[in-house]
Parts: sequence; structure tokens; C-alpha cells
Amino acid sequence: MMFSNITDTKISKKIVEIVSGNKNLSIGGGSFCVIAGPCSIENELQFSSTANFVTKNGAQLLRGGVWKPRTSHKSFQGLGSVALELVKKITTETNQGIVSEVMDPRDIEELYPYVSLFQVGSRNMHNYSLLKELAQQDKPVLLKRGFASFVDEWIKSAEYIEQGGKASVILCERGIRTFETVTRNTLDLNSVAFIKHKTHYPIIVDPSHGVGVSLLVPDLALAAAALGADGIMVEVHPNPKEALSDGPQALTFPQFEILMTKINRIIEIVGQK
Ligand code: PEP
Ligand code: MN
Repeated sequence: MMFSNITDTKISKKIVEIVSGNKNLSIGGGSFCVIAGPCSIENELQFSSTANFVTKNGAQLLRGGVWKPRTSHKSFQGLGSVALELVKKITTETNQGIVSEVMDPRDIEELYPYVSLFQVGSRNMHNYSLLKELAQQDKPVLLKRGFASFVDEWIKSAEYIEQGGKASVILCERGIRTFETVTRNTLDLNSVAFIKHKTHYPIIVDPSHGVGVSLLVPDLALAAAALGADGIMVEVHPNPKEALSDGPQALTFPQFEILMTKINRIIEIVGQK
């Protein structure tokens, strides 16, 4: 889609309903959703303490990687299926749902009972076999933007999932590669405004991967709230220096708590709940 095709007409949103514990979340319906948790589920203490802390401080949905897409095969790959018992235990304990990434179409069935929302990661946005398989099931999908993908390609990937007529899609902007290297990625807030006005998809912003530095994450999270995104997804860890993945971008508990106070003020100003 060429920029010259952008008109002034606004398109109305599709509201995506998610069951998170005993809550029903309506994403895209004017309420701001905070999704928080560790990059990867590492062990019971790490996951349980994080999940309880973010819940106590207003997160409506947990995040936590079970299978991790890592650049090097030598890096921590996630606990895999072993983490699923922890997912069950901690989501029950906190009365929360969780979003977690599925990388392989063969894992969809196994992950299905444990998640409120499937995540398709940036590296898999173009994995059409995975998208087609997700189109055959009925849980919503959080589709992250490929880090080198056009918005138009991202939307076409969303359509792969929707064409089955069963699963709804929420888009997640998580930053793209640009010539700039001072931060991990460049968080494309233009795309967020575009998705908001010109497509029917709810849009969540992931400032953790978008900027990659914990000091800067809250600023980008607040910017996302200010421009009317439908929510944010942030990584939180009890001890970021010890994290097995993405430690440099993980918020500490105090950082998350301060961010939530500020987010609540911003969403009040922009008229979200
Ligand atoms: C994640 O959310 O843990 C993740 C791996 O993100 P991305 O696919 O955006 O890199
Ligand atoms: Mn991560």
C-alpha cells in the first residue's frame, strides 16, 4: 500500500474478546490492556513472583515464553513442554490468562488448553504454514510484526489467520530494523497510528523488543498509551541481570510499578478505561 493511498476515512475496529482467568477482556473496545511477564518462563519462583507482582499492579494478562526463537542455537531455547505445568499452576494461582508464542504448527494443539491468546513471533510472521494452521482453531492470535516487514505484508499475514473464519487477530508492533543501531530496534509508532485509523485490527505495542533497553522502555510504553494503542506488552523480571533471555530490556518490579502509575494517568487523559 502506497502512502499516497491513505485517505481521511477512519475504519471501525473489530473488538477481540479474550478470556483471562475470570475476566473477559475486550481488546479494541476502548479499554487499555496491559500484558506483562517474563520474556521466558525460567523456573517456578521467577515466573510465580513476576506473575503475582504484575497482577497486583494492574496487568490484565500475563506473558511468558515456553518455546523461544533465539538467534543462536546455543542460547536458552525455553523450557518447552516442561513449562506448561507451571503455566497452569501460576495462571490458576493469579486468576490470569496468558499469551505465549507458538513457533511450530505441531505445538498448537499442545499449547491450546493453556493460553488465552496465541503469539506469533516476529520471526514467524511470514511462516504461512503456521498462520494457516492457526486459522483452523478458535483462539485469538497476537501477530507480531516481522522486524523487516512492511505494514502491508503484516496485514496480509493477519488475513491468512482470519480467512479460516474462526480466529481473530490482534496486531503487535514490536519494532523494526532501520539504519539506527543505538537501540535494539526502532519502534515504529507510525504503524500504530496507521493500524488504529485505517484497519479493523486492535493494536498492541511491545516497547521491550521495540527499544531493547529497560531504561527507555517506560517512555515508549507511555508514548504508545498516549497515541491510543489498545494496550502494551512489556517484559518484567525479578532480577534482569540473571535473566536467561532479554535481560537488558526487562523491567524490574519497581520500574513496572512506576510505569503503571503513569500509564493510568495517560489513559485517563486519552479517554480509555
Ligand atoms: C517475545 O515476545 O518474547 C519475542 C520473542 O518477541 P519478537 O518475536 O517480537 O522478537
Ligand atoms: Mn523477549
